[in-house]
Amino acid sequence: MTSRSPAAIRPPARAWCALVGAGPGDPELLTLKALRTLRKATLLLVDDLVSDEVLALALRGRRKPPRVVHVGKRGGCRSTPQAFIERLMVSQALAGEKVVRLKGGDPFVFGRGGEEAEALRAQGITVEIVNGITAGLAAATALGVPWTHRDHAQGVMLVTAHAREGSSGPDWSVLGAAAAQGLTLVIYMGMARLADVQAGLMSALPPGTPAAIVQHAGCTLQRHAVTTLGGLVQCRQRHGLGSPAIVLVGDVLRGLAAAAADTPARSAAA
Ligand code: SAH
Repeated sequence: MTSRSPAAIRPPARAWCALVGAGPGDPELLTLKALRTLRKATLLLVDDLVSDEVLALALRGRRKPPRVVHVGKRGGCRSTPQAFIERLMVSQALAGEKVVRLKGGDPFVFGRGGEEAEALRAQGITVEIVNGITAGLAAATALGVPWTHRDHAQGVMLVTAHAREGSSGPDWSVLGAAAAQGLTLVIYMGMARLADVQAGLMSALPPGTPAAIVQHAGCTLQRHAVTTLGGLVQCRQRHGLGSPAIVLVGDVLRGLAAAAADTPARSAAA
C-alpha cells in the first residue's frame, strides 16, 4: 500500500451558503461579521427589505463584485416564489458559488430563514447564519423604550400577524391575555390585519393599553405614531402609515402614551 502525505489529501470543497442579517436599514447597524461574510460572496441574493445603503456598503471596494439578484418577497406584492429562491440557493451553492442570502433584520426572525437553512442542509450544504438587528428591536429603540423595562414587562413576545395558507393565524385574545400578565407584544406583518389584531387583543386588554406603530424602523424613512390599543386602526389611517411596520403594544410604552397620545413623528433615524 502506498502512503500519501496528509498534505496531498485534499478534502472535497464544501458547498457553502450564508444567511446574513442586514439589520433594519441603517448600514451602521450591520455587524462586522455580516460585512466580512458579505465580502466572501460571489452571488448575493437580496431581500426587498434590505436598504440600498446596506447593499452599497456590501459592494463597496469589491474589485470583483458579486452577481446581485433581487429576490423580494414582500407580503401582498408580486414576489419571487420561495421555492424558486431555495432552488436557486441550492443549485448555485452546489455549483461552487459562494452564495450569501442577505435578509432584512435577522435571518431567523420570521422571513423564512429557517426553511432556507433546512433546504440547504438537506443537500449537504454548509450553512452559516449571521445575526442582524431585528426590526422589532429597532422599532422599540426608535421610540426610546426597552422591550423589557422591569417596572412594566417581564418578557416580550415576537408575533407575526401573517397567517400561513390554511391557518387562521394567532389567537389574539390568548396573546392579549399573556400580554396582560406583563409581556410586551411586538407584532410583525400586522398592518394588513390590524383591525383583527386590535379586536382580538381588546377582548383581553383594556382599550387604553399603550400602543405604537413604527414604519421603516431604523431607516432614513422612519416614521412612528404613539396611540392606544383602542386607537390603533384610526391612528394608522389618520397618519397614512403602512408596511413595513412594527406594532408595539404594552405598558413599556406608557410614558410615551401619556406624553403624546396619538402623536405622529418623523423619527430621527440615521
Ligand atoms: N427578518 C425580519 C422580519 C421579516 S418579516 C426582521 O428580523 O426584521 C417582514 C416584516 O418585518 C414586515 O412586514 C414588518 O412587519 C417587519 N419589518 C421589516 N423591516 C422593517 C422595518 N425597517 N421597519 C418596520 N418593520 C419592519
